[in-house]
Amino acid sequence: AMAPLPSTVAAVQIGKTGGIEVLEYKTDVPVPKPKEGEVLVKNEYIGVNYIDTYFRSGLYPAPSFPYTLGREASGVVTAVGSGNVHNLTVGDRVAYLSTSAYASYTAAPALHTIKIPDEISTQDAAAALLQGLTALTMIREGHHVRKGDFILVHAAAGGVGLWLCQLLRSVGARVIATASTKEKLDLAKKNGAEFLVNYSHEDVKEAVMKHTNGAGCIAVLDGVGKSTFDQSLECVARKGTMVSYGNASGAVPPVTIARLSGKNVKLLRPTLFNYITTRDEFETYSNELFQFVSRDKLDVRVHEVYPLSESARAQEDLEARKTTGKLLLKP
Ligand code: NDP
Repeated sequence: AMAPLPSTVAAVQIGKTGGIEVLEYKTDVPVPKPKEGEVLVKNEYIGVNYIDTYFRSGLYPAPSFPYTLGREASGVVTAVGSGNVHNLTVGDRVAYLSTSAYASYTAAPALHTIKIPDEISTQDAAAALLQGLTALTMIREGHHVRKGDFILVHAAAGGVGLWLCQLLRSVGARVIATASTKEKLDLAKKNGAEFLVNYSHEDVKEAVMKHTNGAGCIAVLDGVGKSTFDQSLECVARKGTMVSYGNASGAVPPVTIARLSGKNVKLLRPTLFNYITTRDEFETYSNELFQFVSRDKLDVRVHEVYPLSESARAQEDLEARKTTGKLLLKP
C-alpha cells in the first residue's frame, strides 16, 4: 500500500525573475491535485535543464507568479486524475515532462509520462529523458543524420551535448565537437566525438574546414546561441542545415534570411516539445531513447545529485559552465 499523501509538499518557486537569489525553497506548498488527464507523481529525481534558468532570468516569460520551475522528473505514480491517463496506474515507476517539476510531488500530464523499463534506473530515466529526447529528435528531424555525415556539435560535454555525441556515434556520424576546456573535450571524445575543437581559443571554422576537406558540416547543432551563431553558419556545408536549438550564451539576434543563400542553407529553430506533441510521437521517441540506453549501453553521466533545497547551487554551477552531463535534484 502507498503511504498516505501529505497535505503540503516541498517546491522551488520564483515570485519574480532574476538571479539565483529569486529561487525560493518552500515546504508548505499545497499538494497538487491531478486534473483530467494528469497523474500525481512522487518525484525521486528531478532534472535540471538550461531552460529552468531562462524562466528564472526572464528570458522566457513565466505564465504567472509564484511559478514552480522544472520540466522533468522521475518517480512513482501516487494518484491518477480522470479521463485518459494512457493506462498509467498507481505504483508505476515513471519519467515525465511537465511544468512544476522542482517539487516533491507534481501533477504531470499523462500524455508526457512514460513507464520506465525494468533495466533502467529511476535516476537514469530522469537524467535521460529531456536532454536525450532533444538530442534524438534533433538528429532525426532537425537534420536526419545518416552514416558518414559530418556533424558539428557545440558544448559537446554538456547535458544535450553528450547525448548528441553518443547517439551520433551509434548512427555512424562523424562528430566535430566543441567545448571550452580540455577535460570537457576528452569527455566528448570518450562519448563518441572524432574531432575536437576548443572554442575558447581555437578557430572553429578553420578546424571544421580542415577536417571536412573544405566542405563544411552537413549539419551544425548549436545550443550555445548568441556567441556561436555566426561561426556556425560559416561551418555549414552547401545545402546543409543549421539547427539553432538553444541560447546558453544568450538569444540569437534577428537574422537576415538573405544570409542563407550563399550555400542554400536550411535554418531551423526547433523545440523538443513540437516534435513530441502527440502521445504517439512522445512514446515512440521515448521508447527508442530507452532502447538506445540499454542496448547501446549509453553512459548516463550525472554531474551531481543536489538536494532540492540547493537548486540555486545547481543552477549557479550550470550557468558558470562548471558541469558536464546531467544535474539532478533530489527532494
Ligand atoms: P549544458 O549542460 O549544455 O550547459 C550549457 C553549456 O553551454 C555549458 O556547459 C557550456 O559548455 C556552454 N556554454 C557556452 N557559452 C556559454 C555561456 N556564455 N554561458 C553558459 N554556458 C555556455 O545545458 P543543457 O544540456 O541543459 O542545454 C544545452 C542547450 O540546449 C541550452 O541552450 C538549452 O536551452 C538547449 N535545449 C534546447 C531544447 C529545445 O527544445 N530546443 C531542449 C533542451 C535543451 P562549454 O563550457 O563547453 O562552452
